Amino acid sequence: MQINKGSVELVGVVKRYGDKLAVSEINLAIAGGSYCCLLGPSGCGKSTTLRMIAGHEAVSEGDILLNNRNVTDLPPRRRGTAMMFQNYALFPHLSSLDNVAFSLKIAGISKADRHARALEMLQLVNMETYADAFPDNLSGGQQQRVALARALINQPEVILLDEPLSALDPFLRVRMRTELKRIQQQLGITFIHVTHSQEEAFALADSVVVMNNGCIEQIDNPQGIFRTPRTAFVAGFIGGHNIIEGRLTGAGLQISQARTLALQTVPAPHSGGDQTQVSLRCDHIRVSPRPFDNAQALPLQVESVEYQGSYVHVRTRSDDGLQLSIHQPDADYLQAPLYPGDPAYVGWHPEDLNPLQPPAAHA
Ligand code: ADP
Repeated sequence: MQINKGSVELVGVVKRYGDKLAVSEINLAIAGGSYCCLLGPSGCGKSTTLRMIAGHEAVSEGDILLNNRNVTDLPPRRRGTAMMFQNYALFPHLSSLDNVAFSLKIAGISKADRHARALEMLQLVNMETYADAFPDNLSGGQQQRVALARALINQPEVILLDEPLSALDPFLRVRMRTELKRIQQQLGITFIHVTHSQEEAFALADSVVVMNNGCIEQIDNPQGIFRTPRTAFVAGFIGGHNIIEGRLTGAGLQISQARTLALQTVPAPHSGGDQTQVSLRCDHIRVSPRPFDNAQALPLQVESVEYQGSYVHVRTRSDDGLQLSIHQPDADYLQAPLYPGDPAYVGWHPEDLNPLQPPAAHA
């Protein structure tokens, strides 16, 4: 674990609401100055984890360390963190400048000094021309910039952002995403950002923490998550992968009486005998209406074909029930188009079959 400023560590952190286990004994180390995304479906415990780091929610068990300092029992204002809320929570009766300067006013800083610092923060988020505007007269994206400036004014070492882009339209979301990354890199502070969008997490994060059902399923950089998802949940959640189930034999993964797929790495079988799962990226499958060298002895039938621009999404199924989703480059498709009902031949490199681990022990 790096001891950079802004490092965050969760050690055996549990959160219960009554009988309900919302976060199940998680361990997580976030390097100081990095961009970390907590990624997972609704209800998996992301916001609860963020709120525990902020100090807005007490932990049931475990410890939270900031810069190796145990902050588990400290109130939010004494942690060195700042939170930006989903609804921005700006004061409607205060101008942008006064919203940003608010905490400095409470701290007794003179008007001239707090306005000078607030203006600097508004400049950082490109909102200085709206210093006198009130929240009602700002767009969602502009309100968000003001909220970010307000979170930054006390020079926190860690910024916590709960679904910060979810209220924006898709165009603005992508623009603000770029801005968030720019600001994080410019300030060199730690950003912890909760999202259910893998696209957002991949675009922003140095490390992605995939959560499911109160547990951490995988922690890695975006490339690691996409290239080698650890569990079937991760492969399914991030999309772009097939999950193939079968029985391990000496020859490979037996997916039906008649079919065994060659494996390069032999995975550990899942509990429940020698049943196991592998993932295979949709863009790592070659598909053709005609047999080709090294094609699998696995004729399939095309179920659907959807043009997506740079690729064509082809769904296929074999007689023995194997379904494969394939992202075929559009140039290949244009050369030999496939249609629903056509036979399809597929091929891949055995090393592209990625063995999956059993799921994390769930709540
Ligand atoms: P996410 O942010 O991933 O959508 P949350 O952290 O908000 O998930 O919630 C995790 C689980 O804890 C959910 O099942 C949710 O219903 C429950 N939960 C969250 N906050 C409370 C609360 N204040 N009281 C009771 N249950 C809660």
